[in-house]
Amino acid sequence: MTQQEPELRKVALVVVAHPDDAEFMAAGTVATWAADGWDVHYVICTDASGGGPDHAEDVSPEARKVISNIRKREQRAACDVLGAKDIVFLDYPDGLLEPSMALRRDLVRVFRQYRPSRVICQSPDRNWERGYAIGGYHPDHLAAGTATISAFYPASQNGWDFPELLQEDLKPHKIHEIYFAGAPTANFAVDISATIDKKIESLRAHASQLADEFDEIEGWIKKWTVEIGKKHGMEYAEEFHRAENR
Ligand SMILES: [Zn+2]
Repeated sequence: MTQQEPELRKVALVVVAHPDDAEFMAAGTVATWAADGWDVHYVICTDASGGGPDHAEDVSPEARKVISNIRKREQRAACDVLGAKDIVFLDYPDGLLEPSMALRRDLVRVFRQYRPSRVICQSPDRNWERGYAIGGYHPDHLAAGTATISAFYPASQNGWDFPELLQEDLKPHKIHEIYFAGAPTANFAVDISATIDKKIESLRAHASQLADEFDEIEGWIKKWTVEIGKKHGMEYAEEFHRAENR
């Protein structure tokens, strides 16, 4: 295969396991990019049907459907706050996500449809220092991160992987860069001082998950983004491990 140059369109995809994951890790960045003219779209890997309280008594299929619908609506509201556009729900069962070939293929399909130049995703590796604060131990998060990096390279850009997608007229697409949130090492920060309020507002949209303890969450989000900002000479920041695809 001849060497492809990545397409540098102002299109970014955010791939996460659940509604609210993207807001915790990257909402300020999403709002910053959207304000800068980027089309930012979301891919939510699960159906969000497991997001009730840990001690819930009704975990029937009907109850799961209800919470799934609520969380999808909340994700739409959060994206509206941030200026993010489409949301693709892949609807894998919440809590059971695996970095399967089926998930990899679904992500490659979305990558080739939207043809982003940037992808934000969850870390495929545990961060033993920060994991407690960002849900970094959740198996769905690790699975989403693993599937995303595998779809990013080489499958999205390699026509030999998932040849059936060529039948759908989805041509290989080389993505320029990937941003891992919550990774064991970070090498890149985004100044979110102008969008911290939108980050907080977007998190508030996830009322079914966060309303009960929102004051506490707002407090630690601000403390955490200020701490990251201090390292980089910014008021508020989000940080990532960023890698270029060369
Ligand atoms: Zn999550």
